[in-house]
Amino acid sequence: MFLTDKIELNEWGDPLFLHKNITVTIARLDKVHPVISGNKLFKLKYFLDEALKGKYDCILTFGGAYSNHLLATAYACKQIGTHCIGVVRGDDLKENAVTLQQCESYGMQLHFISREQYQQNNDPIFIKATKEKFGRCFIIPEGGYHQLGALGASTIIDELDLSDQTYIVTALGTATTTAGLLMNGNYKQHVIAVPVLKNMHDIENRIDYLTQKNLLERLIIFDNYHFGGYAKKTPTLIDFMNLLYHEHGIETDFVYTAKMMFAIKDKIDNNYFKPGSKIICLHTGGLQGNRSLSKGTLIF
Ligand SMILES: *Cc1c(COP(=O)(O)O)cnc(C)c1O
Repeated sequence: MFLTDKIELNEWGDPLFLHKNITVTIARLDKVHPVISGNKLFKLKYFLDEALKGKYDCILTFGGAYSNHLLATAYACKQIGTHCIGVVRGDDLKENAVTLQQCESYGMQLHFISREQYQQNNDPIFIKATKEKFGRCFIIPEGGYHQLGALGASTIIDELDLSDQTYIVTALGTATTTAGLLMNGNYKQHVIAVPVLKNMHDIENRIDYLTQKNLLERLIIFDNYHFGGYAKKTPTLIDFMNLLYHEHGIETDFVYTAKMMFAIKDKIDNNYFKPGSKIICLHTGGLQGNRSLSKGTLIF
């Protein structure tokens, strides 16, 4: 349905990494598709298959004003010719919500609800009411947080040659991607997750729910790189992003990938990894968040 290009691999050739004999490779999932970048494409895969199998009138999902997931779903639904509805946290709405405009341009019907209502988006009563309102909709949970999303994310592994890698790293939002990486039996080494939210104490429960297996032994969580919480940032993080672009030409977003890359660099600086370690970082794509920054903040 979506032809993806082969995943490009870039070496993050920081002289310090070389000096410590640590190899860091960046898997450019952000480049697999011009619109549905990164992990979102993989997470959507099996939801779309399911939706097409059933007799649904539409696909409905949830997101904020800068949601990579919402945009990916809008585009995917246009491609498969299915009507789609995006339920959006209305309080986030700003005049120039470019991401939402783009969603609408792909034919997504937007429906705004309050932050309080939005918080119930996984609640069965809320889902039932939503279904009554919009008809026979196939519902994709926010961020693809569901076994089907994790199963889709697990196929990322199949696209990469990980035979000599000792760690695979991803930013963590809903934990769906992390669960997928743990689930795929073709990769048996460590999975490192960098949560981008503050005080996320339920990661293990989430992974258990998503995988329906006990796979936590191989999971490493680098907490403390959330920079204050979801979509929060500091000048240090912005400087890091600009430097990374300046030195290596890699664009990151301040919500997800910049925090993940910062964490890896910081852990290498602090000798967390043994010499000889081979680390592959997933550039999970999604630059929508950067659209909320004022002009001139980033050099790219
Ligand atoms: C959505 C997103 C993530 C988080 O993925 P989860 O599966 O929700 O943990 C990471 N990186 C980027 C760029 C994203 O857009």
